[in-house]
Amino acid sequence: MDMSKKIYLHNTLTNKKEELTTIKEGVVSMYNCGPTVYDKQHIGNLSMFVFTDILRKALIYKGYKVNQVINFTDFGHLTGDNLGDADMGEDKMSKGLQKEGLSPTLENMKILGKKYADIFLHDIRTLNIDTEDITFPYASDYIQDQIEIISKLEKNDFTYETDYGIYFDTSKFKDYGKLGNINLGGLEAGIRVENTDKKNSTDFVLWKKDNKTGWQSPWGLGFPGWHIECSAMIIKILGEQIDIHTGGIEHIGVHHNNEIAQSECATGKKPFSRFWLHRSHLRVDDAKISKSSGTAIYIEDLIEHKIHPLSFKYFLLSAHYKTPTNFTWEAVSGSQNGLQKIVINYLKLKDADDSDESLLNIFEEYISDDLNTPKAISLLQEAKSKYAIERMDSVLGLNIKSLSELLTNNIADQILDLKKERDEARKAKDWSRSDELRKEIEKEDYIVEDKENESQIIKTLHKIIDPN
Ligand SMILES: [Zn+2]
Repeated sequence: MDMSKKIYLHNTLTNKKEELTTIKEGVVSMYNCGPTVYDKQHIGNLSMFVFTDILRKALIYKGYKVNQVINFTDFGHLTGDNLGDADMGEDKMSKGLQKEGLSPTLENMKILGKKYADIFLHDIRTLNIDTEDITFPYASDYIQDQIEIISKLEKNDFTYETDYGIYFDTSKFKDYGKLGNINLGGLEAGIRVENTDKKNSTDFVLWKKDNKTGWQSPWGLGFPGWHIECSAMIIKILGEQIDIHTGGIEHIGVHHNNEIAQSECATGKKPFSRFWLHRSHLRVDDAKISKSSGTAIYIEDLIEHKIHPLSFKYFLLSAHYKTPTNFTWEAVSGSQNGLQKIVINYLKLKDADDSDESLLNIFEEYISDDLNTPKAISLLQEAKSKYAIERMDSVLGLNIKSLSELLTNNIADQILDLKKERDEARKAKDWSRSDELRKEIEKEDYIVEDKENESQIIKTLHKIIDPN
């Protein structure tokens, strides 16, 4: 096997596929913008962390050690933040508190944040994401670090103060808008500027003054602006410069350009992150996911529809992360059938086979080419051994080995009796009786796989989904 660590990733910063190089030999520091924990996360948001998990597992497969951080935003994320203005729209956490009948205090925000962070962790575990190897900081635990960065920016003369708060002056950072080559003219025209005290429409708030709630700071009571939390947690946990930063494509224009601006101006070090990777959006029934239109689907909805969360993962991996994907119930049940076939195939294979070495080389080539999961996943059907499938699954994370155990363990006695009867009918070459018995078994959501003299009973994936 080729033990070279070469892996090529599409970097939004250069708009090119580039070979990954790291600050520290053999170690990747990676930060993924995480969820705002005011509510459950729909499958569109979850798709982001399937992507970062494949990335992590591919890097490990290539021999890297990965230090991965996913943050929890538990205050201050306004609904308008990605439209360019951090000081407009509704505060998502306040909205969440209102919905749950809690008063808007810092303590209640913590409680609400913890509740939805736990639900998020549970959800991504059902997608076989190893949460124990990832650091999950809460933004509200890093207030002092955020204040320190703002103070540095103030000292370095990148800020100004208005009645509303402390702003970053984007006209003082000549690289502003470089990520994704943002057309600043277009951005300015497209933004509704609510706060007329700003000098430039792209300027963003670092500290929001508040006379009722918030934390103490050199600028009085208030809250850090949304963007500053990511810079603070990255610098504190991973360092002033990192190797890979990820997010959704909606983060390119504003959030990530703001992160670059404030981090590089505070530390004086460039680039803040060497690689920027962005996952494209998941759509549902050809529409943007939104709660109001009913296209927001959650893990529990998948389960209710008897779709295993790993079938949804298989569905996501069937498209490249940069390709916009359209979720339909029909497509995801197709994926469930596909995954089921792979598990059945796995059960039939021998433990190891020398001929798999070239297959694994091709697999490694595919994942090293900007995580080409659609091609990589197609190789699962070509494997000649359990070993090859397990190696590939260490990146794809479909949990095939343990699914194969779940699907063959604890078969009901009544079904085993039918199987025995059918095996005997087959031995006696009574094909019509054997067909009848097969139908009876299949009616109960089992699959019969015939081997030479015997047969094997396998549960269907949707049989092992517990709707509770
Ligand atoms: Zn972020």
